[in-house]
Amino acid sequence: MEPIRLELPTGLDVGPVNVYLFRQPEPVLVDAGLKSPESWEALQFALAEHNLTVMDISRVIITHPHVDHFGQAGTITAHSDADVWICELGAAWLTDSAEMWQQRLDYYRQEFLQSVGYEPAIIDAVTGGMKAIGDQSDPIPPERVHTFAPDGVLQMGGLAWQVIHTPGHSSAQTCFYQPETRQLLSADHLLQTTPTPVVERPLSAQDRLPALPQFMQSLDRVAALDIEAVYPGHGRPFGPRFDLDHHAVIDKQCARIQQRKTECLQYIQSGIYVPALLVDKMYAHHPPQFRFAGLWMLIGYLDLLLADGAIRQETISGVWHYYPTGD
Ligand SMILES: [Zn+2]
Repeated sequence: MEPIRLELPTGLDVGPVNVYLFRQPEPVLVDAGLKSPESWEALQFALAEHNLTVMDISRVIITHPHVDHFGQAGTITAHSDADVWICELGAAWLTDSAEMWQQRLDYYRQEFLQSVGYEPAIIDAVTGGMKAIGDQSDPIPPERVHTFAPDGVLQMGGLAWQVIHTPGHSSAQTCFYQPETRQLLSADHLLQTTPTPVVERPLSAQDRLPALPQFMQSLDRVAALDIEAVYPGHGRPFGPRFDLDHHAVIDKQCARIQQRKTECLQYIQSGIYVPALLVDKMYAHHPPQFRFAGLWMLIGYLDLLLADGAIRQETISGVWHYYPTGD
């Protein structure tokens, strides 16, 4: 059985988000959309087209803890008996979403954005704009939240789907793969446009996770799968059945990342050592207020160059500086 794609509005730059419906043997949703009146109305309308209401939903399975994917799950549980499932790595986002978001904002404000060399006024502007994202989800009662392992198995549409942990865009991201029908629910790991490796608050004393190197390893894992159809978290399905092979999508994204990584190294070699200044060079084609996603990508290129041994990092007055090795 194929998942049915329901497209819900988000009001975010990313555009609408895909929620997938399995109608039989029991109505299951993969992801829930963002919490907003428009999204709620669109979900009810889309379900009605399949002769369902929110009350009929028995399970909601979340691919990764970003608000455009889980935000509306709390509203669904308030209007149904549905349980919500997520990989154990992301469960805290469902029960304590406001607290988790606040912790990320605090990390950005107090550490990360200072380390990349932003001035206080810019830090205030960036984090002020992100505050509202914390309101785009409702907490879910803990007794309604269930977890699966990063290598678990889920029953959807009468078939067994393998959970594939694909850190990168989110450290807790999971894709779901159905080997007999060769279908992949790829969440925000494999999209037709490269997803950004979101910088997360490091856990305890552990170093910040290298999200882009992890994303590329996760791409290798997905590239090795035998796939007929890819159902992404945003945009239209693709894969051999839809005349766009996922290998072509992956190869194009990897080539672009390698090219941008080389450009980043060239800027560093020309004497630009601080991330805040590198972003302005690398994303000069974006207006300043839209460069934040660029910062996440840039941090990713720096992580790749560090892993290559092409650059080294030094912290000077609390600001990360990157120099070509051998300088
Ligand atoms: Zn998304």
